[in-house]
Amino acid sequence: MKKLFLAFIVLIVVVAAIVVVRALMFTAERPQSVPSLDVKVNTDSSAPHLATALSIPTVSNQDAAKTDTAAFRRLHAFLAETYPTMHTNLQHEVVGGYSLLFRWQGGDTTLKPALLMAHQDVVPVVPGTEQEWTHPPFGGKIDSGYIWGRGALDDKAGVIGICEAVEALTKTGFQPKRTIYLSFGHDEEISGVSGAVNIAALLKQRGVQCEYVLDEGGIVAHGIVPNVSAPVALIGISEKGYLSVELRVISAGGHSSMPPPNTAVGILSHAIAALEDHQMPAHVDGVTETFLDRMGRETSFGYKLVFANMWLFAPLVERLMAANPTSNASIRTTTAPTMLAGSPKENVLPIMATAVVNFRISPSDNVAAVLEHVKNAINDPRVKIRALGSPSEPSPISDVQSTSYKLLERTITQVFGGDHVVMPYLVVGATDARYFTGLSANVYRFLPNIMTSEDLQRVHGTNERISVTNFQQAVKFYYQIIRVTNEL
Ligand SMILES: [Zn+2]
Repeated sequence: MKKLFLAFIVLIVVVAAIVVVRALMFTAERPQSVPSLDVKVNTDSSAPHLATALSIPTVSNQDAAKTDTAAFRRLHAFLAETYPTMHTNLQHEVVGGYSLLFRWQGGDTTLKPALLMAHQDVVPVVPGTEQEWTHPPFGGKIDSGYIWGRGALDDKAGVIGICEAVEALTKTGFQPKRTIYLSFGHDEEISGVSGAVNIAALLKQRGVQCEYVLDEGGIVAHGIVPNVSAPVALIGISEKGYLSVELRVISAGGHSSMPPPNTAVGILSHAIAALEDHQMPAHVDGVTETFLDRMGRETSFGYKLVFANMWLFAPLVERLMAANPTSNASIRTTTAPTMLAGSPKENVLPIMATAVVNFRISPSDNVAAVLEHVKNAINDPRVKIRALGSPSEPSPISDVQSTSYKLLERTITQVFGGDHVVMPYLVVGATDARYFTGLSANVYRFLPNIMTSEDLQRVHGTNERISVTNFQQAVKFYYQIIRVTNEL
């Protein structure tokens, strides 16, 4: 007995020693010191240009037929007039009605092109909230060091940032070595089915394969990544898939004074409850594992003890992450019942009850596996299950060891400063980039916008704005990434 106890103590000591040694060795790899930035862009005019672009209400309407298409034409005219050298030096075409595809011929046609993306459209302002804006959402106002308006962060800073950089570079006579494409979709906020889908198809049809694709989807996060005090540039290297499932129960209906023991609503409710009770399994692997590794290296010693020893603490980390909706979304396929319909009248039994459940699919799962899970979890033949619309599979995971990822990492550090940490992460929403994964193995999602938790609320919310300084950095970022793409 005493021997056993002694063996147990020895085991504890050995495990503790391993945990501590691993934590001590768990240090961050920062990119080597980078040359300081020398970028010639007219920072005085860039902010007013963004402000004007924000005053053009290129709003995507859920019903695409109701979209104000004249606004898109106005934005195109504004771009042509504001960026004349870019329009002379680059070929451009309109795709899918209002999306723009620019092609900047590279000197070496044997090299794969690079593709920069952003979207022209913005979400509507929620009716009734207009008065809550400090400056009108389509006023194009610059005040107190900020450029205000719907689209300032999502995603006209991207469109105008890229155009400013390209205009400045073309003016200096800069010649890209590889061809550079610019893709500005017009319906990203309503799934990109006319814009990004058609641009990706067109490029595929022309046999284009890209060295890298850069779209929105990551940010420069200030105070958002838990336990890390340094600002963190998040580069999305994969995005979750999307699936909406309809559950439908048919029954006899009739008068509610003589109901059967189980009504269509009751049966449907059991099915929804079963899905909530049987969540898809968590996976602390793939992108999230890489993210936790990079993140853990930036935390204090106490946290390093945990993150350096995932062999021991993975179940604990998984449980903690599952308890918070934000981190939970990065470790599993999420289940969200969103729509519900039953009888149209209080005293009438439903002849049909329906629900829609929205799933965001983890890169470890796929559409077929989720449908199978739904069937098994509900396990009731009275509930008919069908996938709605056009589901999308999770994106493949892009390489964090590629030269283009390293270039991106280096450029971010150069523009934002060496105190910034770059981390790959899983995009839990959806971007136009998902349609381009067939064109390149290196699809990255990063917008050079600095955001705090408060700014995240402004995206699709009230008082969307970007600081003038940050927008100027964004222009420099695009300028530099285009320039150093010549080194790839
Ligand atoms: Zn966006």
